[in-house]
Amino acid sequence: MCGIVAYTGHREAFPIILKGLKRLEYRGYDSAGVALLNGDLSVYKKQGKVADLEKSVEGKNLNGNIGIGHTRWATHGEPNDLNAHPHYSQSGDLAIIHNGIIENYDSIRQELLNRGHQFTSETDTEVLIHFIENIQERSNTSLEEAVRLALQKVVGAYAIVVISRQNPKQLIAARKGSPLVIGIGKEEYFIASDATPIVEYTNEVVYLDDREIAVINNDGLSIKNIDSVPKTPYVQTIDMELEAIEKGGYEHFMLKEIFEQPKSIMASMLGRVVADKHRLHLGGLIEYFNRLMSADRIMIVACGTSWHAGLVAEYLFEELARVPVEVEYASEFRYRNPIIRENDVVIAISQSGETADTLAAIELAKSKGAIIFGVCNVVGASIPRATHAGAYIHAGPEIGVASTKAFTGQITVLTMMALMLAHRKGTISESKFREFLIELENIPAKVEKALKLNDQIKYISDIFKDARNFLYLGRGYNFPVALEGALKLKEISYIHAEGYPAAEMKHGPIALIDEEMPVVFIATADSSYEKVVSNIQEVKARRGQVIAIVTEGDEQIKNIADYVIEIPETIEALTPLISVIPLQLLSYHVAVMRGANVDQPRNLAKSVTVE
Ligand code: GLU
Repeated sequence: MCGIVAYTGHREAFPIILKGLKRLEYRGYDSAGVALLNGDLSVYKKQGKVADLEKSVEGKNLNGNIGIGHTRWATHGEPNDLNAHPHYSQSGDLAIIHNGIIENYDSIRQELLNRGHQFTSETDTEVLIHFIENIQERSNTSLEEAVRLALQKVVGAYAIVVISRQNPKQLIAARKGSPLVIGIGKEEYFIASDATPIVEYTNEVVYLDDREIAVINNDGLSIKNIDSVPKTPYVQTIDMELEAIEKGGYEHFMLKEIFEQPKSIMASMLGRVVADKHRLHLGGLIEYFNRLMSADRIMIVACGTSWHAGLVAEYLFEELARVPVEVEYASEFRYRNPIIRENDVVIAISQSGETADTLAAIELAKSKGAIIFGVCNVVGASIPRATHAGAYIHAGPEIGVASTKAFTGQITVLTMMALMLAHRKGTISESKFREFLIELENIPAKVEKALKLNDQIKYISDIFKDARNFLYLGRGYNFPVALEGALKLKEISYIHAEGYPAAEMKHGPIALIDEEMPVVFIATADSSYEKVVSNIQEVKARRGQVIAIVTEGDEQIKNIADYVIEIPETIEALTPLISVIPLQLLSYHVAVMRGANVDQPRNLAKSVTVE
């Protein structure tokens, strides 16, 4: 993962880089570091957050108009000062920042050790910069050429930026498998892992492609691919509001993003759902829509929260469009030689659009001839570019590591896809189709109403904040919501939690239930309501503590459960968009009450660009 920022131009580089690193901290926060060229090539780095780096450089000479910065999510070598990026080359003339993994670093390291190189860290990254320098010295060539030759020998994924004491006006950047955006200002350039460090200076950007190397110097920006073929930079204008990437008065990004959901769900539907005209249109699907129409099977590949959204989509596509669906963890799919037939369609879901396993699953499915649709949030990211067609969720930047508004955005888009398919295939009636469109337009207001439960959920969170385990149970459309509720709690509060289909409880998890075990039931008024009520009775009979998410006006569960949280009623298939809201808030408040760092949970990073 890791966040990368670099700057060259007429301003002081350090403040720009530091601010950029803070924006990218969601990508990793094991350590942070900066290298500046100011006559010398100075590296400052520190284990911990960007704020720790900031403190550690107080009083130092931080001048310079060119520099690189990094916030790390460790893969090779523990998080400490020595393993922090930037890394120097053997001579100390070059410095590098890197996002990704150099898989063959060990053999290169051995080769370099035999040539007398000494390493100060355990990282694959340090090996790469030594390797680049070694090639430059041995072939007596330019730094650009040495970078190119080195990258041709490298196996793995990378986004890198290199600076050199010898060329104090030059930045060299390259990518394969990890994102890089170049911002073009007036006689200044920015490089970053995503556009958030760049938007306040310029909205003109170039997204570097895989196997491309960019050189920025006095002559401006030039791009070649790794085989030396020149490329014309494709400059795009991005549309990102600064306030979208700031906390806007909320204590945490996660809370802000939870509360943004009425707006973000609306944004997912904007121009796509027009209920009074009975219209539903996802333009990005059209070119390949006939392949979706004739699909014998849909395979959904995703990871984490996106995988949960995929499970909701399984119910949606099967119920509405009557097409068989399989939902796969991308990380398993890519390594198990899956059977993909001619008429299969793959849908890849990823908030960042950079998830390494999902990208690899796409490449595999493509190589077997499948048509791939993408459902992503970050515009211009690798997955949208690798897929044949797709739809953005338009949820706006999601910065909290625990995904919230991207989940509801993904479900909104997947619902629209399933509905559009069902309508065209004729597997749902016109009246049902219209009923769905009207209800979709009602969802943001219902989510708004569910958010009003915040104080009640805070109160319940206080009661259960010290629990050591939680069980989340739901059936049908609420089963994936149970999984998502458990994941949210685990990732930010570090409480062990499991999600299960409620009926599966008696095949194992029921053994865990005693008076210490909070059990969260998602028990809305739907087709499995009576069955879930029985499951609640079974938990109560074993003295478990029941927190039930129910439909407004529910009387039956109120009499059995310890706590009930009433959410607005909707069509069963749209329930997850509302029932997940109290679970997001529950995990948020529990985590805050336990003193956890909600936006930067330990060991995690937001966009998982490593395997
Ligand atoms: N492999 C590098 C390291 O461990 C970069 C890690 C990353 O991109 O997450 O330092």
